[in-house]
Amino acid sequence: MDAPKAPARPAPALPASASPTPASPAPAPPASGASRSALGELDLRVAGCGACARLVAWREEVARTKRAAFADWTYWGRPVPGFGPPDARLLIVGLAPAAHGGNRTGRMFTGDRSGDVLYQALYDVGLASQPTAVSVDDGLELYGVRITSPVHCAPPANRPTPGERDTCRPWLVQELRLLRPTLRAVVVLGAFGWQAALPAFAEAGWTVPRPRPAFAHGTRVPLPAPDLPREPGGRKDGLDGAEGPGGVEVFGCFHVSQRNTFTGRLTPAMLREVLSTAAGVAGLT
Ligand code: SF4
Repeated sequence: MDAPKAPARPAPALPASASPTPASPAPAPPASGASRSALGELDLRVAGCGACARLVAWREEVARTKRAAFADWTYWGRPVPGFGPPDARLLIVGLAPAAHGGNRTGRMFTGDRSGDVLYQALYDVGLASQPTAVSVDDGLELYGVRITSPVHCAPPANRPTPGERDTCRPWLVQELRLLRPTLRAVVVLGAFGWQAALPAFAEAGWTVPRPRPAFAHGTRVPLPAPDLPREPGGRKDGLDGAEGPGGVEVFGCFHVSQRNTFTGRLTPAMLREVLSTAAGVAGLT
């Protein structure tokens, strides 16, 4: 079912210094509770990025032409920054915003069927305040979880090119560096996200095995980071020794795309299982 309609809203203003590569004067990203943090500043810069000409043209074209069901929306039409608290212990990495989902609402996985599945599962395992995500002002909160993607702009046919993935990687690397004092577990949705995320983890300071581990649903890969300072008080679950202080455990999970969820390749139970296991490793449950 498509997300409920919301009244058209004017795009808010963004500080002029927000973007290193502005496509045009950019609006502020949706509030995420991190607006005064370094991560909030990063979100502002992401939202103003215009580095990929093909994706800039596509996201703006979609925002202009719209889907009939959302004709009364003012589409976001810009890069969609990560969503969730700056001290998240669990990170979920997707692929890229959907043309009429995140690209419309301005928040990760918000307003599309993939998000319906993801947020329902997060709510079911106690990591979200509500099971639905329809707009930036719907009141949704995530508990210790942040959601991001290796490509922040909606791509045609949901397929970014390798060049666009690589161009966007520095944003993910910066996000990981800002999260690493608290980050303990990561769920990567799908093979594209997996291939994009592992190099970003390496660049952000974690030790990634070589050859890089292949993506599979349910796979778990510990990434040590022995050079990172230990979180005050240590991990809540006392497992600092498993990956070393500052280490993270990365989980593979099939993407919550309709192709996977409609066919039963990824069931709600499978998704809940990965999320709850990762939340346990992160010390959230
Ligand atoms: S995909 Fe990433 S690098 Fe490319 S324009 Fe969007 S935010 Fe910028």
